[in-house]
Amino acid sequence: MLSLHRSISPGAMIHMAGKAKLHYILTPYERKALFDLGRKKLNERELSAEQSDFLDMLLLSALVKGIAEVSCLKPQCTTCDEINILDRSVRRGGRAEALG
Ligand SMILES: [Zn+2]
Repeated sequence: MLSLHRSISPGAMIHMAGKAKLHYILTPYERKALFDLGRKKLNERELSAEQSDFLDMLLLSALVKGIAEVSCLKPQCTTCDEINILDRSVRRGGRAEALG
């Protein structure tokens, strides 16, 4: 089963949490969860089923709220390129597939 968090690197998830903080996207609790779960994946630790579902919901919510459109203040950021690719695939209607 495909899922959003398997379609993006842990580094990009952590980057999304940083952008979310910069632009007040998601709640502080959600931003912290996105960061913490991204770190957990970065350290190659398994997520529980609940954590996987929650992470997919956080990623989708951040994308819907425009995380791909806002700047991280870094010029020509390749991590943002990765976020943009995921955003486009979700907006093309890959969301249902991405969320299984
Ligand atoms: Zn960036």
